[in-house]
Amino acid sequence: MTGARPGDAGPGPAEAAAQAAKQAADEVAAEAADDFRRMWRDLLPVGRNAATGGYRRHAWTPADADCRAWFEREARDRGLWYEADRNGNQWAWLGDPADGNAVVTGSHLDSVPDGGAYDGPLGVVSAFAAVDALRRRGAVAGRPLAVVNFTEEEGARFGVACLGSRLMTGVADPAAARALTDSGGVTLAEAMERAGHDPSALGRDDERLARVGVFVELHVEQGRRLAGTPHPVGVGSAIWPHGRWRLDFPGVADHAGTTLMEDRRDPMPGYAATVLAARESATRMGGLATFGRLRVAPNGTNAIASLVTAWLDCRAPDADTLEDLVAGIAAVAEAAGAEITAESGTPLVTFDRPLRVRLARILGGAPPLPTGAGHDAGVLASAVPTAMLFVRNPTGVSHSPHEHAEEADCLAGVSALTRVLTDLLADDPSEPAQCEPGPPGGS
Ligand SMILES: [Zn+2]
Repeated sequence: MTGARPGDAGPGPAEAAAQAAKQAADEVAAEAADDFRRMWRDLLPVGRNAATGGYRRHAWTPADADCRAWFEREARDRGLWYEADRNGNQWAWLGDPADGNAVVTGSHLDSVPDGGAYDGPLGVVSAFAAVDALRRRGAVAGRPLAVVNFTEEEGARFGVACLGSRLMTGVADPAAARALTDSGGVTLAEAMERAGHDPSALGRDDERLARVGVFVELHVEQGRRLAGTPHPVGVGSAIWPHGRWRLDFPGVADHAGTTLMEDRRDPMPGYAATVLAARESATRMGGLATFGRLRVAPNGTNAIASLVTAWLDCRAPDADTLEDLVAGIAAVAEAAGAEITAESGTPLVTFDRPLRVRLARILGGAPPLPTGAGHDAGVLASAVPTAMLFVRNPTGVSHSPHEHAEEADCLAGVSALTRVLTDLLADDPSEPAQCEPGPPGGS
């Protein structure tokens, strides 16, 4: 993009487009501000831990039930048709779902342990605010429109991210999903039953997928590529391939005060060397490697560990880089006697190109953003044309109580989503959008 130079008569085409987009954004934002603020205020205290300020909205817990009740209330108060699907995802419909080729928008309301307020809820609240803005403008004719809340997106309770969308698209096996356990040994099936939801009908939902013509997920940016640019909103281009691995480092428990250093079979140094190698390799190769979860047995200050179990999260811009990165880390771990188990893997997701181009044009040249974070949109991309909008995050911090977006940027996000939905709803319903063939994925 070119900037204005001294002596230029006026703004260039890029600046003019950005100004026009901003003006349109300001108009919609002013209309939507009150709706947005009220919903945000209602949802803010739900599942918030007073000590940390972080959110613990884990699937099928009381906090999750409160979020779900909020969603149902927002749907019914607007006269939208509400339903929870077989996989526990919530839907609010404007127009008849049976007409098919629906425009669907939304995100998730669950959180990571001590997560932020924006990751997920921003997309759901913005979706409802956009529906209000559309109705005020009478721009809802044509295709049916739905707001969705996908369940267990973060995988914080049962370990599989994007579980609701994975089940719906058939990427996750229903029997295996029912048997997933949380840290207290409660299975997903038991947790769903306790929350009043029948777990027997989990699984691929072709009838529902056939209704969806296009899915657009708005999400807070996880990273700071938009910070310092004139753009409060970007358009998702791709989701990096990523996966999770479990590493078991065996040792022999013994007394910390009586066992000579040379006599020890301590798994901790091998684990530590692996962490340092992961950090070095990821930095050198342009990928991301994280050890954020650890289990130590017997976990005593004065006891040499008998087993260290660590979980590796690895991401990279392409599949080859990811494979090389993980292989390098695994070699260091195996040299320390570790056993490595792949727990989940997700290939590269490239969002539907014509849709991406269209969104960038509607938004006056919003910049493309790749991301290392998984999303339900990444899972749905295997089944329907899918796109993402990212709202600027000034610090880039996410999955933390410090996650933030300025209210003006959130409202610009509502405005962007409103304009995108307006454009998509105006499509001829007899001509479904084309889906680019691509790999399944997400998380
Ligand atoms: Zn999210």
